[in-house]
Amino acid sequence: MQDEIIENLIEQFRTLPGVGYKTAQRYAYSIIEGTLERAERFSYAIKEAKEKIGFCKVCGNFTDKEVCPICQKRNRKIICVVKDPKDVLAMEKVKTYDGVYHVLFGTISPLEHRGPDQIKIKELLSRVQEDKVEEVIVATNPDVEGEATAMYIAKILSPLGVKVTRLAQGIAMGSDLEYADEVTLSKALEARREIN
Ligand SMILES: [Zn+2]
Repeated sequence: MQDEIIENLIEQFRTLPGVGYKTAQRYAYSIIEGTLERAERFSYAIKEAKEKIGFCKVCGNFTDKEVCPICQKRNRKIICVVKDPKDVLAMEKVKTYDGVYHVLFGTISPLEHRGPDQIKIKELLSRVQEDKVEEVIVATNPDVEGEATAMYIAKILSPLGVKVTRLAQGIAMGSDLEYADEVTLSKALEARREIN
């Protein structure tokens, strides 16, 4: 029999991805055993992130600014296209990459009846035209949906004269960008190949 308040805290942690009951219990006990200040900092950080973080109006990545720091400072002639905001974080492990990003918020999936209109493809097209982009690197995952998305992007962008490339197959087929390490990603980026 567990106290209701503790049980509720455990349940909250369990809503997080990859957290099972045992881990949630450890987290809950850690909070209870810690100081009140720590618990307040923790809950404040969650609330503040939720209240202040929105989407960059250029690339779609999470930010508390209108335009994110990456879009403000880096080379806008090169765009790396990713599926989710967490993939931006993965690609940022590659320290040599100086371009910007474009978050699609999904991939084209014939099986799930999700077409180009359901993800941010139109926005990518306008960016390529407005910023006179020289290269678009498609870094969607190397699975069926990621490939279909890459092919579609190459098809609509190639007529505009922009170079469309794809990360090399350093990342094992079917695996996720977010789990790839820095070396693998650097090599995959370096050995990127043109698609048309
Ligand atoms: Zn941005």
